[in-house]
Amino acid sequence: MIRKNLNLLNQTITEICKQCGRNPEDIRLVAVTKTHPEETIMEAYDAGLRDFGENKVQELVPKMEKLPADVIWHMVGTVQTNKIKDLVARVDWIHSISKVKYLKELEKRAARVDRIIRVLIQVNISGEDQKSGCEPEQLAGILQYAAGLHHVTVHGLMGMASLTADRDQIREQFRMLRRMRDGHRKLETESIRLDELSMGMSGDYDIAIEEGATMIRLGTSLFGGRDYTL
Ligand SMILES: *Cc1c(COP(=O)(O)O)cnc(C)c1O
Repeated sequence: MIRKNLNLLNQTITEICKQCGRNPEDIRLVAVTKTHPEETIMEAYDAGLRDFGENKVQELVPKMEKLPADVIWHMVGTVQTNKIKDLVARVDWIHSISKVKYLKELEKRAARVDRIIRVLIQVNISGEDQKSGCEPEQLAGILQYAAGLHHVTVHGLMGMASLTADRDQIREQFRMLRRMRDGHRKLETESIRLDELSMGMSGDYDIAIEEGATMIRLGTSLFGGRDYTL
């Protein structure tokens, strides 16, 4: 089932890329496995996927411990300061950094385990949920702080569009994230590269690709509906 979904998705992604003149290889599919058991993840792994994402630390940590070493782990949900220490030994990417205080804790904890963690700065592009993502005007300050870190590298931005059927509105929000990325390029340093745009989920990844996404985070379209939302 997963293999079939993945084949279909890859076909669709290739088709969208063809229409908008992009290379499908520039788009990384992150399989969001929240609520799904390890067997399901292994099925996706056997189908060829290597990038997996979770949105809760307590669900991610046991999965990171049990699954194969070559899995690339993405934390896509908000991380509380006191949970960062549980992630640093293994996580590869954190998409959801929205405050300097999280960068500070991440730097401290990653230094202790001698690792460099890749992060994306999450920006609130929907204007709705004040809790997820920094406000656009806070981005420059966060990037400037990140420039002084040694165990955290910033690779781009992450955003979640409004849950709406209005596709123009979604497109406008993704476009805003891309413009914000372009507008902050001047702040790039050795440890700050704004190449990645993590945007697009099962309902809107096609728009996200058209607007420049380099990472799409897919749950439902790969694994089917979730029994409950975490
Ligand atoms: C659950 C989740 C996704 C995947 O959502 P689907 O609509 O099931 O594809 C993507 N990003 C984040 C941050 C999530 O929590």
